[in-house]
Amino acid sequence: MKLELVSKEKGNQKACFEVDGVDYWFLNSMRRLMANEVPVLAIEDVEFRKNDSALYDEIIALRLGLLPLTTELKSLSLKENCTCKGAGCGQCQVVMSLKEKGPKMVYAKHIKFKDPKIECVYPEMPIVKLDKNQELEFEAIAVLGKGKEHVKWSPGLIYYKYYPLLKITEKCKDGCKACVEACPQGILESKGGKLSINDKKLLDCHLCKACVEACPHGSVKLEQDETKHVLYIESWGQLSFKDIGLEATEIFENKLLELAKLIKK
Ligand SMILES: [Zn+2]
Repeated sequence: MKLELVSKEKGNQKACFEVDGVDYWFLNSMRRLMANEVPVLAIEDVEFRKNDSALYDEIIALRLGLLPLTTELKSLSLKENCTCKGAGCGQCQVVMSLKEKGPKMVYAKHIKFKDPKIECVYPEMPIVKLDKNQELEFEAIAVLGKGKEHVKWSPGLIYYKYYPLLKITEKCKDGCKACVEACPQGILESKGGKLSINDKKLLDCHLCKACVEACPHGSVKLEQDETKHVLYIESWGQLSFKDIGLEATEIFENKLLELAKLIKK
């Protein structure tokens, strides 16, 4: 198995990898573990003291639940695994509050966390607009959870595709450019009547085969390499892409160890 980093964005939120020598089912298991089993923090309980805004309590609570919060997995534990046995303590829940008066737009940055290490990933996310003298006041609790329970606890978008194998055969000589115009990703280029593939953009290919269909001479060949994949991890911001990957492998390992124990029994 080979894993090669193709590109990553600033802040380690988004990364693209070439994965060689694994079957799709293995990669799909990893994808599901990353998206559905790696826990992150999200607001779960909101107690409203005042809400004069135009939005119902439930709608504001829903919006709060979807705010990505920075998650430090080492210092937090899932409620069901916590030493407090689910009663709620500093290790399994994060307390926060907000008290604002209009006229103003209430943003994520206005939430005050008891633990200063935790913050909203995107401080400029709007929550609700308050009119003159309207007030919003609440206390809320965030807990760790898993994406399989609710998408607000999913750490990001994880997806993969087969590696594209794009070839131009010798038959192409008239430089009709039909394939260049058909490709929605701009992967094919034509310079001075000569057709070429832009290698830098090759991984943008989503195997739509528009180039193959557009070519009147059958000169463009597009296939998928079924032993090689392109994997994308796009974090919503709670964890870095590296943490998402590492945590998923740890969860996988624990699941296999548990299975081994059961088989031995
Ligand atoms: Zn606890």
